[in-house]
Amino acid sequence: MPALVAPPPPVSIMAIAAHPDDIEFWCAGTLIRAIAGGATVRLLLVTSGDKGSSDPASIPAEIARRRETEALEAANLLGLADVAFLRHPDGEVENTHALRGELVSWIRRWSPAVLFTHDPEHPLPAYLSHRDHRTVGRAALDAVYPLARDRLNYPEHEAAGLKPHAVGEVWLFASSAADSFVDIGASLEQKIAARLKHTSQTSDPAALRESWTTRASEIGAAFGVPAEGFTVLRHD
Ligand SMILES: [Zn+2]
Repeated sequence: MPALVAPPPPVSIMAIAAHPDDIEFWCAGTLIRAIAGGATVRLLLVTSGDKGSSDPASIPAEIARRRETEALEAANLLGLADVAFLRHPDGEVENTHALRGELVSWIRRWSPAVLFTHDPEHPLPAYLSHRDHRTVGRAALDAVYPLARDRLNYPEHEAAGLKPHAVGEVWLFASSAADSFVDIGASLEQKIAARLKHTSQTSDPAALRESWTTRASEIGAAFGVPAEGFTVLRHD
């Protein structure tokens, strides 16, 4: 049964996303509430969104640089504790041993109790979802279980001072099977303000504000509040 739930408690939270503006779209309202309650949130971005421009004069390296700056400004507004960039090519992410190793190393470094990432099995939208979203979500889940937990996976991490780490909960965003909804009435304005920091992706701020307000109300319609939706996995 879908339920209205509280945001995560004051613990260490990590978000793994494919593109610089993904967390604003899907989960920033919940992260803002968690931070207000004392949580620490760190963000790992797998690509820097270097294909995210229709300007014929733009080149990928410049787009990536601008989008990283925008991501840091948005992170500052959201109150994130850290942002790290893996700089995989936008639109070309593959779930490889190497990518999983990078994700495992950051999970071991930041040791989150709760991890947010894309739902790879029931993506939203269901069919025409971004390939990077599905790939990053799948690689992140593979990294959580069992790779980051068990010391014999990527044993070179131990020599670098990184200990195995078991993530307690995973909150999957962009999920067509969402069962847990968080009221973002108190954080919607800040979520939109963070999204508007991504100026390269914003042709019409007023239209974005209107459509995001409508979308939040639709997601939370069953509860009568603006909301974000998640599939929450708990594992021991
Ligand atoms: Zn994206």
